Amino acid sequence: MPTKGKIEIQVELCKSCGYCLKHCPQGCIRLAARYNQKGYYPAEFSGGECTGCALCAVVCPETAIEVWRA
Ligand code: SF4
Ligand code: SF4
Repeated sequence: MPTKGKIEIQVELCKSCGYCLKHCPQGCIRLAARYNQKGYYPAEFSGGECTGCALCAVVCPETAIEVWRA
């Protein structure tokens, strides 16, 4: 079975740079429609098959993403 992953994004740390969504090979991340307290539209999980590769977490300059693998 392929590895499955799960991510958690701390929306208040996100500055909407978009790196995580550009780098996710599975297209699992998008920007939310609601802005956070700093006025940025934060990244959110949009569905799909997260593999737990952690690329999103590695490229995030704000270390706003945590990844778990199962
Ligand atoms: S862990 Fe990998 S597959 Fe999952 S959301 Fe992040 S970049 Fe995408
Ligand atoms: S890489 Fe980090 S700061 Fe940039 S949009 Fe994704 S979660 Fe937000």
